[in-house]
Amino acid sequence: MKSIGIDVGGTKIAGVLLGEDDQVLAQDKVATPAQSAQAIIEAIVAMVQGLQVGHEVAGVGVAIAGFIDAKQSTVMYAPNLNMRNVALKAILEDKLGLKVFIENDANAAGWAEYRFGAGRGTQNMLMVTVGTGVGGAIIADGQMFRGGFGVGAEIGHMNFIPEGKECGCGQKGCLEQYASGTALLNAAKDLLRSNDASAAGLRQICADPEKLTGSDVYQAIQAGDIAVLGLLKELGFTLGKAIASLTALLDPEIVVIGGGVSVLGNQLLDPIREAYLAHLPARGFRPELRIVAAELVNDAGAIGAADLARGHLGSR
Ligand SMILES: [Zn+2]
Repeated sequence: MKSIGIDVGGTKIAGVLLGEDDQVLAQDKVATPAQSAQAIIEAIVAMVQGLQVGHEVAGVGVAIAGFIDAKQSTVMYAPNLNMRNVALKAILEDKLGLKVFIENDANAAGWAEYRFGAGRGTQNMLMVTVGTGVGGAIIADGQMFRGGFGVGAEIGHMNFIPEGKECGCGQKGCLEQYASGTALLNAAKDLLRSNDASAAGLRQICADPEKLTGSDVYQAIQAGDIAVLGLLKELGFTLGKAIASLTALLDPEIVVIGGGVSVLGNQLLDPIREAYLAHLPARGFRPELRIVAAELVNDAGAIGAADLARGHLGSR
């Protein structure tokens, strides 16, 4: 059966029509209506109706950047979408006349990677998404792991440094404060502010720490700037250390690194692998997993949501 997947992020809403042979038959994209849950719901409905034209669709998966309840029906908390306790499944099913399943966006993207990307062929996969924050998805024994209340796999908010930097979640020292794209940008800003001689290369790209952007940092990395590469390496070490700990807990066969920062490929992956091995408990006495970059760059969340919807309907 064909299914539709919609990925609702803070900046854009992306949708795909997934065919029976796993081909993307149609896709669509619009900017997320700012700060209005009602407008977002209307945009989802319009997108599904547009993608549906001329096709028989079994169901719809909707990936949301936020906490979804264990029944996959209610958006408990999605601050960037201005949603709190929204019964999204019921609302959308009523408007669309189709079966709808709600999923966390990182879970949906991880599922797409597991089914069609770097994780295919495995049964146990950990996805770590390194972007604005640090997100995660866990596939355990071929199943999506959601946890008891539906909000598991938030690895970005595991404590990494006791009493460390303040996090948006209200705690201190969370992993994403040290291992996200935002953390890398902040470290580069600190480098500029330091007036250290090693900041000379970065200063040529942008001298003002307040105006420094992610693409400036990317440019410095591409230019081989030693100081900025050192910051990236530090970020990789942090992630590798965290992954070694997660390995003790989850024992995955593969770790897939996704998100915006993963486009740096081995410049990010090599320090992750090095630190993973250096911190792996009982190293030498356990199989070592593979750490690879994500393969699905575009529409992973929407594709994963569409496939998960098919799975719920027993028609994958
Ligand atoms: Zn946190």
